[in-house]
Amino acid sequence: MIKNAQIHFNEVGTPVADNFDDVYFSNDDGLAESHYVFYQQNNIQARLQNHDQAHFVIAETGFGTGLNFLNAWQHFNDHIGSQQVQNQVAKSVKRLHFISFEKYPLSANDLAKALRAWPTLKNLSKELVSSYPINLAGCHRVEFNNGQVILDLYFGDVLESINTMSYPQSGVVDAWFLDGFAPSKNPDMWQQSVFNAMVDISRKHATLATFTAAGFVRRGLIAAGFNMQKAKGFGRKREMLIGQLGSANSAHSSPPYFEQSTSELTHVAVIGGGIASSCILQSLAKRGISTTLFCQDEKPAMGASHNIQGAVYPHLQAKNSPHSELFAHSFLYAKRTYEQLLNNGFSFDHDWCGVLQHAVKKPLADKHQNLEQKQLWPEQLMRNVTASQGDKLAGVETGYSGVFFEQGGWVNPPQLVEAMLKAADSVNPFTHHFNCRIEQLNKTVDGWYLIANNTQYGPFSDVIVCAGEHSDAFEQTKALPIVGVRGQVSHIQASEQSKQLKTVLCHKGYFTPAYLEQHCMGATFEKNTKSRTVTEKDNQLNHQQLLSFYQQSEFATTLGSIHSAKAAVRCTFIDHLPMAGQWCEQSDYTTAFANLRLGKRYQYTPLNKPQQGLHIFTGFGARALCSAPLLSEHFISTLNNEPRPLSERVSQAIHPARFIVRDLIRNKI
Ligand code: SAM
Repeated sequence: MIKNAQIHFNEVGTPVADNFDDVYFSNDDGLAESHYVFYQQNNIQARLQNHDQAHFVIAETGFGTGLNFLNAWQHFNDHIGSQQVQNQVAKSVKRLHFISFEKYPLSANDLAKALRAWPTLKNLSKELVSSYPINLAGCHRVEFNNGQVILDLYFGDVLESINTMSYPQSGVVDAWFLDGFAPSKNPDMWQQSVFNAMVDISRKHATLATFTAAGFVRRGLIAAGFNMQKAKGFGRKREMLIGQLGSANSAHSSPPYFEQSTSELTHVAVIGGGIASSCILQSLAKRGISTTLFCQDEKPAMGASHNIQGAVYPHLQAKNSPHSELFAHSFLYAKRTYEQLLNNGFSFDHDWCGVLQHAVKKPLADKHQNLEQKQLWPEQLMRNVTASQGDKLAGVETGYSGVFFEQGGWVNPPQLVEAMLKAADSVNPFTHHFNCRIEQLNKTVDGWYLIANNTQYGPFSDVIVCAGEHSDAFEQTKALPIVGVRGQVSHIQASEQSKQLKTVLCHKGYFTPAYLEQHCMGATFEKNTKSRTVTEKDNQLNHQQLLSFYQQSEFATTLGSIHSAKAAVRCTFIDHLPMAGQWCEQSDYTTAFANLRLGKRYQYTPLNKPQQGLHIFTGFGARALCSAPLLSEHFISTLNNEPRPLSERVSQAIHPARFIVRDLIRNKI
């Protein structure tokens, strides 16, 4: 569990960490020091004007008050402003990416108080404080300037955090700000293993700057591979250190069979029209990538994203698994994304009313008890509630204890998808073809062509298939091991008593607060059927299930009649995790990684990639509202050679080759 820093403010108002007995920044103009030591000595201003990628990545050890981040953000804004005046220079950086590691985050109140010292940073500070993450370990991706400035804030020890990261062999970091407390007061931050780990994630010729001139720091950085120099220190300080990485980094986080491809992304075709594709459209639009959307229906969100109210909450296990990590961080990111949409003037019906999961059966009660004992999750994410606490939150009597997700709630998915598409279009207009069922994908030397109804579209550098249950409809993807699950949600007339319900309730299914005089109730869960026809039988099943759990509760016994319903087939995989990444052909894998059958995790032949540029992004089941936004960011960041917000273990858990690798290791294929 992440613990907040204990701090006080000294006689000149500088924040001081109690357990390190050190200041967060200099007593003499910390902002000027931050700018001189980190920004100027890494030569960032000049590098922003002439860089080999459209994004520039700074990484920092020790986020503290965020002063270095805010200073970099402010100067990046000046850079963008001046580029606009000069009509955008081709090699000029368009996006700033700031990674920072923090073991003892300041509380939001302390952060706000510390940042009051900098009137020139007032507006940016306000934005940072309002989106400052909760105390959950791992990477929080927070975006500013509509995604032009990205902060990946890792809560946890710096070395442990770097060791969890997913990164390519070419590395991701362009410049380092080494800002742990004084080496004598915090040796953990200045260990050889930290310096070596920094090199693993650095790009060729990455630079670094630090306020300290300590000899062991200099020697350690040299041993790790940096060419080091002394520079004039800030103000009264005589010396500081700067450095540059000599040779290219050779580490990467994944074994070859879980390699993550990068791609050109010059013009991308997206197939699908639901929440998954709208998230992809957003991620591509933020990066200025030209996109064409193909949807077989007449308008968006007619498939599994069609419900009137969809619950938004994380699916957490009582262990620190890849599954829990994915859902916990995805949920927080999804919530920020949806609020950002609203702040930007896009609207969709929603209510952040909280989600209450009732312990309606013994296994659920056991799970909740386990969650309580393990104390894995911060209260702001999830907390256990007694029956009376739960009933008070819900506004209705049920008698069940449970767990409460206070930041959760419901959204109207079709309206949300529309808002996401509008937002993407406003940033970077995209072409769309509705009523257009793609039948064939053809790869040529020019790129990918899509065929629909005797019309050919293309060429595209990349095709992303986000077509849910239809994602296996193409010759290339027919081996996709989709498990289709039919779900019917019934709409039942609200009563005076049921209108008292204030939160979303989850039992075996879910029941929403009244909206448009009705509640959503469901969903059924039926494998091996592709039927989308609404049935009376399923309406009755939904109703009976609700009554079986709440036969004593007035809100459930006084409901009116079911007047409509929606049914769809959700796309899932056998391990209940989504899939995101380049399409992996089984025959290519069995050739390249044949040795996996012999238990050897080495000596492979190079992987043939005839389907380069074809990607899969699907398998969200009923959880796309929670998991699709961050997964989309992770997937597009990976393709675009940017820092990735999800860890290596999550990247492997969602990799399209995971079932092939599993079967090879078991010698089944
Ligand atoms: N850059 C900060 C700013 O702009 O305000 C100041 C950083 S302060 C000098 C050092 C920070 O390193 C503290 O916030 C401290 O909690 C953090 N820290 C200390 N040990 C750490 C560790 N092992 N891993 C990650 N962060 C650590």
